[in-house]
Amino acid sequence: MSVLFSPAQIGTLQLRNRLVMTPMHLGYSPKGEVNDQLIEFYRARARGGVGLIVVGGCGIDRIGNAFGMTQLDEDRYIPGLRRLVDAVHAEGAKIVPQLYQAGRYAHSAMTGQPSVAPSPIPSRLTGQTPLELTTEKIAEIIASFVSAAKRAQTVGFDGVEILASAGYLISQFLSPLTNQRTDRYGGDLQARMTFGLEVVEAVRGAVGPDYPIIVRVAGNDFVPGSNTNTESQAFCQGLEKIGVNAINVTGGWHETPVPQLTMNVPPGAYAYLAHGIKQAVSIPVIACNRINTPELAEGILQEGKADFIGMARPLLADPELLNKAMSGHSEIIRPCIGCNQGCLDYIFRMKPACCLVNAEAGRESELASITQSAQTQQILVIGAGAAGMEFARVATERGHKVTIWEASGQHGGQLALAAAPPGRQDFLHLGTYLENACLELGVTIRYNVKATPENIWSAVQEEKFNKVVIATGSRPVTPPIQIEEGQEVIQAWDVLAGRSKVGENVIIVGGGAVGVETALYLAESGTMDNNTLRFLMLQHAETEKELYRLLTQGSKKITVLEMAKGIGRDIGPSTRWSMLADLKRHKVNCMDETKVLEVRSDGVLVESAGTQKFLPADTVIFAVGSRSVNELYLTLHDKLEGLIIIGDAVNPRKALDAIHDAYTQAIKV
Ligand code: SF4
Repeated sequence: MSVLFSPAQIGTLQLRNRLVMTPMHLGYSPKGEVNDQLIEFYRARARGGVGLIVVGGCGIDRIGNAFGMTQLDEDRYIPGLRRLVDAVHAEGAKIVPQLYQAGRYAHSAMTGQPSVAPSPIPSRLTGQTPLELTTEKIAEIIASFVSAAKRAQTVGFDGVEILASAGYLISQFLSPLTNQRTDRYGGDLQARMTFGLEVVEAVRGAVGPDYPIIVRVAGNDFVPGSNTNTESQAFCQGLEKIGVNAINVTGGWHETPVPQLTMNVPPGAYAYLAHGIKQAVSIPVIACNRINTPELAEGILQEGKADFIGMARPLLADPELLNKAMSGHSEIIRPCIGCNQGCLDYIFRMKPACCLVNAEAGRESELASITQSAQTQQILVIGAGAAGMEFARVATERGHKVTIWEASGQHGGQLALAAAPPGRQDFLHLGTYLENACLELGVTIRYNVKATPENIWSAVQEEKFNKVVIATGSRPVTPPIQIEEGQEVIQAWDVLAGRSKVGENVIIVGGGAVGVETALYLAESGTMDNNTLRFLMLQHAETEKELYRLLTQGSKKITVLEMAKGIGRDIGPSTRWSMLADLKRHKVNCMDETKVLEVRSDGVLVESAGTQKFLPADTVIFAVGSRSVNELYLTLHDKLEGLIIIGDAVNPRKALDAIHDAYTQAIKV
């Protein structure tokens, strides 16, 4: 009997199951209003079976909000909010807004005024110094929380969630790092809890004893000198005493140096924080952060670590996640791979959120659903990479008959390379999902079939196919650098695929994403494995310092050379900082603004700041970009009517763009 699928309660709120869609910033409300984009986005998730949706954050005022945020601070938003609530209710789910006040995380460029905080301590996120809140202004903000909560109740929301995590205003009051007040809001933990507790008490007083209130807390701030599990538990006990109905436990602050949401965070890694809170309170606890499959969610519930599971990005990736799990089809759940490329990275760039693996995310109102094609076509797709399989999946859903020819013995193309570095394995799940989805729909995938102009032409002439799609991807390029005769050129792709032998003193030419990934892949070589680490830790056999050294220092000396300024510039902002930190941890030597002049058998000659020097190496690896594999297209495009070319075969690009291109082309055939 599944716990995840079983009904449960938060206060007076009866939920059909234990899956909560936790809030995520979408940027879909440019003027603060609810619109069709937002409604159809959440309607799809409600239809997909989730028990409770937490919308937001929703701005309670203008001084602490963010771009594209749904607002709850004025009555004029009520009609739109009501449409949203009705849409979600019609699909059988419940819905609450998250009441959001960012404090020093708000940016004046967005709000048009300086941000406010308990103390005037510069924000590492915005680089701005907030104004210290007066007690009058504190009272005003509490009143804004109250009026937003009452408005939510008037609209018909099923409760409210109050944001007290991740470094936003309430957590700024909780932390000794950001709260250095000497009045009753600052001092010891009890005093620092005052603001958060007053907000909740005021909201409770306004909405009555039975209206569900959830509070989202950081299980541990993961910021040196800030609150840990211990303080968080004490705060949650305080919240329980004043009538909070559930605690939603997330991880650290946005400025934490400990990755929270990147792909290298082990799935379910932070469930222990929820467990710690659950042991301290008797109200329901929601666990979240990188819980990305129903199986993992079920395990956490079965082990008693939490009462509910919160997911956000997995439901961006697949709104039907729960329905698929309940019908026994977990293998065709489109997996959130933790890449952040379409969600967090877009939001950081102030663009509305989308999803690498789901081209429909955020476009539900415009696409409604994949429509059936008026005429069934027999389609041949060349290449079972991400773009080829996505095209095949969507075209088949639209009623076409699709066959894929793949030259190698496996699907996924570059996904396998992307998955090679440590902590990047989730890319493989995307390939597996696409293959499963294609097979389930009846796509024929023929491996080890090398496409040529002749066999494609024959297949079309024999009327086996009336449409051909070229999805042949790209291949790495060799830069125009002088290479000593007889010196073998190794491509990063071959290293990541395990096809090349690599020595101990390695130079990687190219410090973009592929160069960084290759460096991290090689840096792992010779480091201690997880089982040994666990054994030695349990036995207290080595010091913490020595274990750290054994985990981070492998058998290779690695140097990354980049001609331009900066390493990993093409990696998204949500992930780049953590990969650069990994390079540092592994003592990878990174040299930017360094031009390679010559590759010799024993190293490379480089020029940096006008000076030439020789860097010895036994292996030189190129990671300097790729070019389209488009020969089939060039040969056939004037012979085959309607020949389509997609993905990297058009132009090398990011996986997100390749998949979205494949989707867009497939809904047109
Ligand atoms: Fe998950 Fe990546 Fe999609 Fe974000 S963009 S929801 S991290 S798969």
